[in-house]
Order: sequence, then C-alpha cells, then structure tokens
Amino acid sequence: MSVKIPRGTQDILPGQSEKWQYIEAIAKDVCRRYHYKEIRTPIFEHTELFKRGVGDTTDIVQKEMYTFEDRGERSLTLRPEGTAAVVRSFVENKMFGHPDQPVKMFYTGPMFRYERPQSGRYRQFVQFGVEAIGSEDPAIDAEVIALVMDIYKSAGLKKLNLVINSLGDAESRNAHREALIAHFEPRIMEFCSDCQTRLAQNPLRILDCKKDRDHELMATAPSILDYLNEESKAYFSKVTGYLDALNISYTIDPKLVRGLDYYNHTAFEVMSEAEGFGAITTLCGGGRYNGLVKDLGGPDSPGIGFAFSIERFIAAMEAERIEWQVDKGLDCYIVALGEEAKDRSVALVHQLRTAGLSADRDYQDRKMKAQLKASDRQNARFTAILGEDELAENRITVKDMAEGSQENVTLQELANYVKTKLEAN
Ligand code: ATP
Ligand code: MG
Repeated sequence: MSVKIPRGTQDILPGQSEKWQYIEAIAKDVCRRYHYKEIRTPIFEHTELFKRGVGDTTDIVQKEMYTFEDRGERSLTLRPEGTAAVVRSFVENKMFGHPDQPVKMFYTGPMFRYERPQSGRYRQFVQFGVEAIGSEDPAIDAEVIALVMDIYKSAGLKKLNLVINSLGDAESRNAHREALIAHFEPRIMEFCSDCQTRLAQNPLRILDCKKDRDHELMATAPSILDYLNEESKAYFSKVTGYLDALNISYTIDPKLVRGLDYYNHTAFEVMSEAEGFGAITTLCGGGRYNGLVKDLGGPDSPGIGFAFSIERFIAAMEAERIEWQVDKGLDCYIVALGEEAKDRSVALVHQLRTAGLSADRDYQDRKMKAQLKASDRQNARFTAILGEDELAENRITVKDMAEGSQENVTLQELANYVKTKLEAN
C-alpha cells in the first residue's frame, strides 16, 4: 500500500503554488510600502513559549498543538501561530533597545494546529502576519489595520467587512469579567463543558464559543463597550477616528473577542462577505497585546499585529471570482527536428534562459506534431522551430503564437528577437 498525505494537510502542486506566491508577493510589497521588514523564526519552539504566550486556557494550547519530545527530552511544539515567537525574538534580541519604536515586522510560513479538518481549516496552513512592537500610539493600530486592508485591496478583493472592537485595558476587562460571570453563572450548566471551564478561567472566551453561539444568554451578554473606562474609550475613539480619516469603513461589534488570551484594547477581524464563501468567513484576525512582551520576560512594551492564512485568502479570491494574474506561460518553446537540431537546441534554450527569458524544449524525442502540441499546452508565446533546412542556413523559424505571424531569424539573433518582441507588447 502506498503512503498517503496526512489528514488536514495538502500538496500545493505546480500550477497552484503560483497563487500562494502571488499573494505573498502582494503582501510583501505592501509591507515594503508601510516599512515592515521580514522576520524568520523557527518552525518549532519550546512548548512553554506557547503555553505562556498564547495562553493556557485557549483552544490552541488545550487541544490543537503538535507537541513532541526531541531526543534530548525537551518538549517542543510546531508553531501554531506567529506572534509568540516574534515577541520571544523581540525580547531575546533586545529589539526594545532600538532607538526607533515600534519595531515593525512581518512573517510568513506554515503553522500547525490539530483541528478538525474542513473547508478553510487545515492542520498545516500558511499564515502571513505583521507585528508592530514598542508603541502604544493608536495611530499604529490604524496603520496595521490599513496595511491589511491594503493587501486585500491590492489583490482585488472587495466584498470585505472589517469588524473592530475594544477589549479595553486591564481595569475595564476586570469590570467586564465580573459582569460576565454574574450573567452566565446561574445558567452555566446549559452550556458546553468548555464554557463551564471558561467561566472560571476566562469568561470572555464564552462569547467566542462555536457550540453555544445561539444560546439566548449570548445575545444579552454584557457588552465590553459598556465597561470601558475613560482612558480605554478615548483610545478606541482615536483608533476609529484615524480609520475614518483614512476612509476605511468598519463595523463595531462588541461581541468580537479574539481566541487568544493576550489581547487588550483594539481587536479586529476581516470577514469575507462573498456569496459562496463557506461557513468560516473570517479571513484575518488581529489586535493589540500590551501585556505579552512583559509576560515573556521583556520590558513593558506594547504591541499590535494580525495574521491571515493564505488558504482563506485564496478561497475569498475564488468566491469573488477574481482572475489570477499568474501563469503567463512560457516565453519560448523550441521544437527541434532531427539529431543535429536536437543537439543544437541544448545551447539555444540556454541562450534564451541566460537572456532572462523562460524557455523549454522537448526531452521525449517526440515527433514535430507532438512537440508543437506541447508548446501549445505550455502556453508558449513563441515557438521556435529548428529543422534541417533552417539548421543548414544557421537560422530558425519563430512563430508568434499570439499574433499568428512567423519570421526567420539567425540562431544568434533568437534570444534578442524574442526579447524585443516581448518588450514591444
Ligand atoms: P478560527 O476562529 O477560524 O478558528 P482563530 O481565531 O483560530 O480562527 P487566529 O489564531 O486568529 O484564528 O489565526 C488568524 C487567521 O489564521 C484566521 O483568521 C484564519 O485566516 C487563519 N487560520 C486559523 N486557523 C486556520 C486553519 N486551521 N486553516 C487555515 N487557516 C486558518
Ligand atoms: Mg481556531
């Protein structure tokens, strides 16, 4: 029996991987414009990092981590998200000492979560995320939100809803927490066992429960916005004011809480409103985490960030039927007939590639017709045909597949000819 791919993972095949590259390229270019630089951290970290950095009471830590012991008997975990590692690195590399704060970083790479696989939910998926650590200026909150909306817009997505909320500071959160306990406690037995544990550990997360979302007490739960102290209110209105100034529209949803424990003040999600997008409509989640750097052993340095998965981004592109501006095809395919022509085509295809063009040829000793078909399948813009007659004159016939025209050029001219014609388009 052959070995199959693990559940919840996927092979991203040639022809599909271009979509991932395309989105990553757009995201990186937007990051360049906003002056965020790439950070690369390990795929695995000490398990302790996620327990502390993501939070012991979260679904991620309680049920979703791929944890293993290495040969040195250390407990390691495949990273389920990016923020904890970026913050660890910020502390470990003393980035808090940089004269310019916040330190603005982006990352991209695979994340691992042991989840029930379904559409839009994988056990290995690629996240792109941004963290700005070291400033509590609400303008940074607006910048980070503007950045992610810019990425979506640059890819052509339109049917989006930016949802934001404030979770307030510690004082506001505590007051809200008390109100939530009072609200849910008398009827907590009607909720799932997870919610029963959440009541004592982190009642805010009951609002994020996927099982009990329709329980009547959910709709009437106390709103965090009623518990924000003056400072938190002022902070939130600065953020929304900046978004207004940037013409970024948003919906305020007091029920929006993030799955991770470390968030305070601004929390946001971007949802797809495209018809036919599956049940899971969250494309991106983000927010402020002012306590995290200190929790992970650094100074009291505030941070904010977001992450989205490329997989859900692609699903949204497809739900909106946005055309992929990828797969431009080959610049030139060389059709060679006869032994000598085949030998010559080795150097010819190399000449084209050296000139910066994409070029290919036949490696199956096929007849002319089959080679022409291959050129077609590979979407070659030019097909260059080298037969015995051409070879005798040191020339080659170049067909422009888009225009249907053809010309005869010298072998030396080939690369330049194709290049000039492509540039003229
Ligand atoms: P959800 O509520 O959908 O489980 P989450 O709160 O666990 O999301 P985050 O940890 O905030 O998600 O991750 C940020 C983003 O990463 C999500 O908005 C989504 O785009 C993506 N994401 C999270 N889990 C998965 C997954 N298993 N497969 C694909 N993408 C995912
Ligand atoms: Mg999740």
